[in-house]
Amino acid sequence: MNASRRSSLRLLSGLPALALFATPAGTAAAAETIGEQDVLIVVDMQNCFVPGGTLPVKEGDQIVPLINRIARRFQNVVITQDWHTPGHTSFASSHPGHKPFELIDVPYGKQVLWPDHCVQGTPDAALHHDLDIPHAQLIIRKGFHAQTDSYSAFVEADKKTYTGLGGYLKQRQIRRCFVCGLATDFCVAWTALDGRAAGFQVAVIEDACRAIDLNGSLAAAWDAMGRKGVRRVQSAALLG
Ligand SMILES: [Zn+2]
Repeated sequence: MNASRRSSLRLLSGLPALALFATPAGTAAAAETIGEQDVLIVVDMQNCFVPGGTLPVKEGDQIVPLINRIARRFQNVVITQDWHTPGHTSFASSHPGHKPFELIDVPYGKQVLWPDHCVQGTPDAALHHDLDIPHAQLIIRKGFHAQTDSYSAFVEADKKTYTGLGGYLKQRQIRRCFVCGLATDFCVAWTALDGRAAGFQVAVIEDACRAIDLNGSLAAAWDAMGRKGVRRVQSAALLG
């Protein structure tokens, strides 16, 4: 450790715990400074993914107030919306003989089958009514191709069909993406990983997400994100 690193750690030790956050290595670092080259990506905070919806994530609704607070720290906010055709290929009901949460082979690889959810134009697909981010500049819809799912806000599950979000962010000179929402181990993780692949610095705000955790998917997602350099941060580092 060099002298400047030691001295910065000494400085940090005088800060309140809330101003610190854990990096993947478990070391402390300074609170985040958010600027014009940062964007908050709010993933899939829709009725379908909260209790009472068609594909509820446990406690999914509980993060809405926190996300509203975090969003006020960002001048740039993008919201994503899962937006499926009726009879979408990701629905178990589209594959006779199969049940929700089974894994099947489709032309682009493995696909988890889900209950019908987030069908275009339905109340189920609407953004959660308590989500209060009037300054969000872009709502990007994904999963609208009938034969291709898209957990990621950047690239569809075929890994070759782009949503356009990467180009949008680059044209707006964005360099860092902070990701929150639902669900940690699917749409949040895939968005974070594809954000890294697109050349952005990426952090996932852990306590502003909730997970599905299907067959160890949550641990696998954090492991994959850690290996690709996605930082794992807590909201306190942003709200300070
Ligand atoms: Zn979906």
